[in-house]
Order: sequence, then structure tokens, then C-alpha cells
Amino acid sequence: MTARQHDKLLILGAGPAGIGCAYTLAESGYAPRLIEKEREVGGLCRTLDYHGYLFDIGGHRFLTKSKEVNRLWSKVMGSDMLRVSRLSRIYYKKKFYNYPLSFFNTFWNFGLIEGLLCVASYFWCKLFKPGDELTFEGWITNHFGKRLYEIFFKTYTEKVWAVPCRDISANWAKQRIRGLSLKVAIQNAVMGMKGNRPKTLADNFLYPRKGPGEFYHRMQAVIEAKGGQFLFGHEAVKIHHQNDKIVSVEVEKCGNGRPEIAGLDYLFSSLPLPVLVQRLCPAPPAHVIAAAKKMHFRNFMIVNVILDKEQVFPDQWIYVHSPEVKLGRIQNYKNWSPSMVMDLRKTSLGLEYFCDVDDELWGMNDIDLIHRAISELEKIGIVSRSHLIDGFVVRQSDVYPVYSLDYQENIQVLKDYLKMFSNLQTMGRAGLFRYDNSDHALLTGIYAAKNYLGDGPLDLWQVNTDENYLEA
Ligand SMILES: Cc1cc2nc3c(=O)[nH]c(=O)nc-3n(C[C@H](O)[C@H](O)[C@H](O)COP(=O)(O)OP(=O)(O)OC[C@H]3O[C@@H](n4cnc5c(N)ncnc54)[C@H](O)[C@@H]3O)c2cc1C
Repeated sequence: MTARQHDKLLILGAGPAGIGCAYTLAESGYAPRLIEKEREVGGLCRTLDYHGYLFDIGGHRFLTKSKEVNRLWSKVMGSDMLRVSRLSRIYYKKKFYNYPLSFFNTFWNFGLIEGLLCVASYFWCKLFKPGDELTFEGWITNHFGKRLYEIFFKTYTEKVWAVPCRDISANWAKQRIRGLSLKVAIQNAVMGMKGNRPKTLADNFLYPRKGPGEFYHRMQAVIEAKGGQFLFGHEAVKIHHQNDKIVSVEVEKCGNGRPEIAGLDYLFSSLPLPVLVQRLCPAPPAHVIAAAKKMHFRNFMIVNVILDKEQVFPDQWIYVHSPEVKLGRIQNYKNWSPSMVMDLRKTSLGLEYFCDVDDELWGMNDIDLIHRAISELEKIGIVSRSHLIDGFVVRQSDVYPVYSLDYQENIQVLKDYLKMFSNLQTMGRAGLFRYDNSDHALLTGIYAAKNYLGDGPLDLWQVNTDENYLEA
């Protein structure tokens, strides 16, 4: 063992970024310590076992353009990685639209008049560009036309973000639906697409037989076998620094509150970026704190139910655009992998809601929430409440970084400030305040470890800025 391999390496968070980082360090002979406030690995990619039924925190496709990530997935999962043919539709005003859009299904649902109006609106907007290109609303209107914007983007996007689309930065559209246009969608529908198709439209994806959590548990086993340690159920509450170095982290057992000091030589953090900055002691200058306070996340809540019904719908998930219900998306887990359910005669669904902490829904008790969610399913004609056997609710904070119009300026202020610490890297989705998927988060963790190991410099902020990676 080299002298440096005795360094005390601390990783905050055991989600994809933390695990990617720990795995890379462990493979190079280091023994990192991970602090995780949940009771298991995986972060937003963990899989929960409820009476033998497995639930994701929302369905998680394994889809990447990174060869490194692909190699790792297949090395760890081997034949337990399934290839799943995608089926997902949009539910809007009592109709199901194929997604990716299929020309004939869409126009059949629209009818001739609405179909022609959409085409006319598309050409008018293409020609006169009436939208403000800096906003989500303007960007989509200019690229798809006002009518298609209202049907396929407005209601769902406003459910996710709870702010008018004119207050959301166009960067969100550019990042999430880059490469997709009406022309591409029609090409896809009529002729099929070859080669460099955007990932949103990918018609198949990988998925671990027992959900994404299985991948992270296997990674955990490798890390532990090489000397890495996990401290679950503990939250990092204060991060102490001195002379431009992080020197220790104050860690509290969740629900118990007795602090423990963890000394360190190097810190890798996947804490949400504004949280990391606000937990630094001594506190950063006022302008840095002010910028951090302007950065917000949307929360996510999933109502998981088990139903006494064999077939509910054939899709892996359905986007619910209809404004008459708050429900945003429905996951049907046995259509991801049959091993997600204990009894194939039953169905387990995840009913997804996007919330803030002060929303009525977020504060409701679990039983009322389950009944509310089932009544929304009944309202849109998916199931009847008589099928409900059991259910539980998961509330998840700091999930969707809000791309407000000034978010990039705020990130820059925090980034500039954090540069002074020579032994700190921030990584992962919330850690970089980027709407990234798990492959990107994993990669930022791997890159952070490589930077530490001297295999860099690799710019974590550039991961997922020039790829065609999408999810609507
Ligand atoms: C509904 C939904 C669907 C998604 N679908 C997909 C998909 O299909 N495919 C895909 O690739 N990605 C998908 N994603 C994105 C994916 O979940 C994230 O990109 C990924 O989990 C980010 O990994 P991370 O390690 O950066 O963060 P996280 O997964 O959030 O992990 C961070 C960890 O840090 C811990 N933590 C936070 N604060 C503290 C603290 N103070 N002390 C100790 N621990 C702390 C958290 O508990 C968490 O475990 C989806 C996300 C959501 C919400």
C-alpha cells in the first residue's frame, strides 16, 4: 500500500455519483468511507422491497452513450441485465398518444381539423418565431408550433415545475429534448430512424432484473470487499474548513441528533450544491449564501400500490398530461421486469407526483394520499378502487434542480467560491445542479475519483453538456 492509500477519503452520499467514486477509488487500492442518510445504497436509483414487490423511485432506464458506463453495467450485472422494448404513451384528454409520437396514431387522435391546425401552427411559428427563445415556452413554440406545445409540453412541464413555462429557462428544453423536432418525430413515425437518434426516442433500454438497486448493491459488495466502509442512516450536517482546506465533517445519526466528527484528507460530495455551500463552517461570504438561497429543487413523491388485477396496461410507463388530475406519470413495474412482482397475477404501480414541501399533497397522510391517487386513476379510467390491496408512499426531497432564468449565474457564484478548496470535489446530479441521468451521475463520480488519483484533469461540469441525452 502506498502512503497516499492511507488517506482518509470521505464520500457524502451513496447514490450513483458516490458509488461510482467509491468503486473507482477502491479498485485503485483506496478504502473510502461513505456517509449516507438513507438506510441503503442507490440514492434516487434505489429499489425498495415492499412485501416481495420491488419499487423504483420512479422507473429507471439504463441508457447511456458512455462506453465506460456500459462496460461497468455489463461487468457488474452480466446476464442479469435485461433488454426491454420500450412502450410508453401520453394520456391527454381521454386519449392515449404513442410516445415516441407516431404520425398516424397522433393524427387519428387529433382528428382532421385539429391535425391541420397543428400543422398550420407549426409552419406559422417556424416562419414568424413568435416565442422568446430564452424561455421554455418560447423555444418549444418556435420549434413545434403553439398547438403542439400546448398539447404535448405545457401541462406536463407545468406539473413537473409548478411554474409557468415562460419562467423556465430554454436550457431545460435544449438539454432534455435536444435533437428532437417535429421533422424528426414525423421521420421517426413514418420511416423509422437509424443511427444517431435522440435518446428520448430510444425504443429499447437496459434494466437490471430486480431493478436499479441491484446494480448498486453489487457495487457496494465490491467496495466493501476492498475495504470501503458505509455509514448508513447518518447525515452530514456541517462541513468544517480551515486555510482553504476541508478538515472535517460533522455527521449526525438521523433521528438521534448526536454529532460525530469525521476527520478527512479529501472530500467528495454529492450533496445538493446549495446545501453543501450552506453547511460550510465558517460560512461563505454573504453573496455566495444569497446565490445558494436562490437555487431551488422540486420534490418528488411516489405513491406505490399493489392491485389485485393481472393486466392494467401494457406500457412500462404512461405520462399523464391531462390537467384534471395532479398525477404526472404512472409506472407499471412488471412491464419493466417480471421479477419486480412476487405474484404475476397482481400489478404494482408507482404513481408519481411533483411537489414542493408546502403543497397540500406533500403534507397529506399516507392513507389519504393512497386513496387520493387511486381516485385519480379511477377518474382517468385506468383502474377501480376495488382492486387496491396495499400501498405505501415515498417522499424525496431535492430531486429536480429548477432551471430558473438566473440559475446559471447562481451556479457560477458557487463554483467560483468552491474553487478555493484544494481537497473538495462536488459531483452528481444535485451536486452539480444539473438535470442529469444516472449514467452521468455515475460518470461524474468516476471522474472525481480519477482527478484525485491523478488520471485527470477531467471536468465534471462538462459531463452531459455535449451529448444527445434526453428524457421528456
Ligand atoms: C422519477 C425519476 C426518474 C428517473 N429516471 C431515470 C432513468 O430512467 N434513467 C436514469 O439514468 N436516471 C433517471 N433518473 C435520474 C437519476 O435518478 C439520477 O440522475 C441519479 O440518481 C443521480 O445520482 P446522484 O448520486 O447524483 O444523486 P442521488 O441519487 O440523489 O444520491 C445522492 C445521495 O446522497 C444522499 N445525501 C443527500 N444529502 C445527504 C447528507 N447531508 N448526508 C448524507 N447523505 C446525503 C442521499 O440520501 C442520496 O442517497 C430519474 C430520477 C427521477 C427522480
